[in-house]
Amino acid sequence: MSVRPAWRLSPDAATLAPMKHAAPPSTPGPDDRASARATPMIAQYIEIKAANADCLLFYRMGDFYELFFEDAQTASRALGIMLTKRGKHLGEDIPMCGVPVERANDYLQKLIALGHRVAVCEQIEDPAEAKKRGAKSVVRRDVVRLVTPGTITEDALLDPARPNAFLAIARLRGDDGTWRFGLASVDISTGAFMLCTRQDNALGAEIARLEPREIVAADALCGDSSLAAIFEAAGIPVAPIGREIGGGADAAQRLMEFYGVATLDGFCALSNVELAAAATAILYVERTQKGQRPALSRPTSLREATTLDIDAATRANLELTRTLSGAREGSLLSVVDLTVTPAGARLLAERIAAPLTDARSIAARLDAVAFLIERPDLRGALRARLARAPELFRALSRLSLERGGPRDLASVGVALEVARDIALLFAPLEPPSEIGAEAQTLAGADIGLAQNIGAALKDNPPLDKRNGDFIREGRDDELDDARRLRDESRKVIAELQGRYAELTGTKLKIKHNNFLGFFLEVSPAHGERLLRAPFDATFTHRQTMADAMRFSTRELVELEAKISSAADRALARELAMFDALAAEIRAKTEDLQRLAEAFARLDLYGALAEVAEKRGWTRPMIDASLDFDIVGGRHPVVETSLRSQGQAFAANDCDLGGAESGRIAVVTGPNMAGKSTYLRQNALIVLLAQIGSYVPATSARIGVVDRLFSRVGASDDLARGRSTFMVEMVETAAILNCATPRSLVILDEIGRGTATFDGLSIAWATIEHLHEVNRSRAIFATHFHELTQLAKRLPRLVNLTMKVTDHAGEIVFLHEVIKGAADRSYGVHVAQLAGLPASVVARAHAILAELEAADRRAPVETLIDDLPLFARVAEASAPKDALRDALNEIDPDQLTPREALAALYELKKKL
Ligand code: ATP
Repeated sequence: MSVRPAWRLSPDAATLAPMKHAAPPSTPGPDDRASARATPMIAQYIEIKAANADCLLFYRMGDFYELFFEDAQTASRALGIMLTKRGKHLGEDIPMCGVPVERANDYLQKLIALGHRVAVCEQIEDPAEAKKRGAKSVVRRDVVRLVTPGTITEDALLDPARPNAFLAIARLRGDDGTWRFGLASVDISTGAFMLCTRQDNALGAEIARLEPREIVAADALCGDSSLAAIFEAAGIPVAPIGREIGGGADAAQRLMEFYGVATLDGFCALSNVELAAAATAILYVERTQKGQRPALSRPTSLREATTLDIDAATRANLELTRTLSGAREGSLLSVVDLTVTPAGARLLAERIAAPLTDARSIAARLDAVAFLIERPDLRGALRARLARAPELFRALSRLSLERGGPRDLASVGVALEVARDIALLFAPLEPPSEIGAEAQTLAGADIGLAQNIGAALKDNPPLDKRNGDFIREGRDDELDDARRLRDESRKVIAELQGRYAELTGTKLKIKHNNFLGFFLEVSPAHGERLLRAPFDATFTHRQTMADAMRFSTRELVELEAKISSAADRALARELAMFDALAAEIRAKTEDLQRLAEAFARLDLYGALAEVAEKRGWTRPMIDASLDFDIVGGRHPVVETSLRSQGQAFAANDCDLGGAESGRIAVVTGPNMAGKSTYLRQNALIVLLAQIGSYVPATSARIGVVDRLFSRVGASDDLARGRSTFMVEMVETAAILNCATPRSLVILDEIGRGTATFDGLSIAWATIEHLHEVNRSRAIFATHFHELTQLAKRLPRLVNLTMKVTDHAGEIVFLHEVIKGAADRSYGVHVAQLAGLPASVVARAHAILAELEAADRRAPVETLIDDLPLFARVAEASAPKDALRDALNEIDPDQLTPREALAALYELKKKL
């Protein structure tokens, strides 16, 4: 995190010096001392800035937020706004720039996107009040909110399709002495609050899964070099929050106070470290929201074993929610996202980031999708209604933080109506549990509240409440009255004039001036009458002119006051009605949040059903076995893109199942033949199946996968000082250290980034390790044809290759996976297709022919065993197998002690 320079705080806030300035002379002369004293306003600024040193300070002055000193320089550069100056401090000009309050959101958006944090400092008293304290006193100001990347709530600043959470991290040492990390992911814009516990080796993966906008942790954690490296690798800004919060009573107390409960018994069970993380998150909410309490749902705890573990590299390699170049287009999410609401889209992204590992929960989700596939009309009606549902989560959040506007109220009203309409759709049916539960939630929608909102609000109300004009006519007498006075003051006066003329039987006029306000003017003759009974009771004489007399009445005085304050009164009345409705909504926040969740889930199931039907996907069979049998599998993204170009995708099977251990498929084949596509499609099919989606295959039987690993393609990570090969090896090491028989491992071209023999050796050893130690289900694509020989030694290894035909001298890639090994590489052929100069291609052909001739003289098998490393491997593995065979033949129960000793000597000889 970049901590911006703070202002040095001297004991007297009024003599603060910015750090960039030289220290004041040790014995300042009288003039220096005078200039060192800041004006009261700058002294106030510096004091507030010192308390918010890591933020840019938006200092409210009238219609502008002003920035001073270094903040002004930073902001003017970042926002491209003019840098000016205002007065002097310590003898130097004070740099200043400002943004109009009306457009503050636009500027905030830019600053937040650049990773800045902004403290919004408002005037918290009327300037008139300040004046009463003396001409030179400054209006009181205070920071009312910190705007940080992970705590924003305004639509203008949020991306509708992405969650906007911050992640609070706490740590405690477990009984076994290792660190346990508690993670609290809080999205203030929707109220989502999730907790989990992770070991330190899974921290990076979890951060990659949650994709927070900001990380919040105690100073000690931020300063820990290994954690700092993880945070930096994730590229997420970090907010240090001071002392560590333990997981004990203090943390529980903070949570109880926030939720206004006396016990946490009603919450799902939280581990101590989760409690510490939750308390850290609450502390951060309080710090940034300055007393406003967002409507956070109660934290739910995500158990470690319930989600498919996908490390950061695999997540990136498989391009789940973004492509390697960072675009959403071309990612898995982009092709499966047929949701019709932003909350549904966010939920889909969340599910893609955290597939399940419990076969029963997956089946329940699949039942929901199946139900909607079988009923296309119902699905259509559901999706049409959902498309009308507004963004409820974020509206609720703004209302709870008192940042909401009339449109947020309207959103709640419309959402309640949509809820009722959707509940009616499901009423005559018996949907499966996942849908049934949501339909029941929607059936409980408070239609009374919707009617209240509908009756109060004008159609298409404004976003902002500040200017009023959002309550319907006829809803409130007092408001209507005030508006009438405001808008029709002339008409009211005319009516009154008529009434007085009738009453007095004289000709009179109502006029206005600044001195008298409204008054009646009559001729002196008529005026005399009004001075007498019975009129003198109503009319009060104010002025006599040469040709006229002027009177006022109680009504006119009241009217004067009313008219001049009518606009204020109308606005105040509207705001009071707004507050009443907002309070009614706030009281029902939890119910409304459940509605919003129900919308999102139904949208998700509807979208998955839509994708399945549109693209011809099938329901996968998921169980607790170690099966892996995909028939006619396709790559969802490549298929969609080929289809849009009118081309067909060649479907391929994949069988990696085994009773106790998975099988390893070694795929060889020419460049561009479709190896990477084949590898990724199988990983993506697992992932889709485990989020509860249908899959692009004719059939798929998958024993639940616990961890998904991929090492696909090569990329430098120069920012972290790692070469392509180093990245490849770090990722491979992570796989070999962590994969289990329940894992799926996808390895593409391991060992290509180094010299041939080193690369081949590493690839060879990797396959052996996967086969013998990890025993995972795995697919390994390689250009080292030598590796296909391993099938002779490793029983669970199968060779697959990509089919190629030679059509009238033209090489054609059929993208079909068949059993066997590739005959050659066709690399030169691909180089030719890529447009390498003809002379280079011809020369490459000649060299290749030479090399192949040499290779025929020294066949591949000989080559492998000639390699010193493999010779040793061969030697090392032979006695190990002989030893195992001999041991297998021994039945200890059948041996006498003497025979046992003899057997031991025999075994030793085999070593
Ligand atoms: P290299 O060894 O050069 O990395 P590769 O064998 O991994 O190549 P891919 O990148 O998987 O090849 O595929 C190359 C192109 O072939 C893809 O971009 C896609 O357009 C097409 N392709 C791959 N698989 C199929 C398939 N099953 N059906 C149709 N086209 C395919």
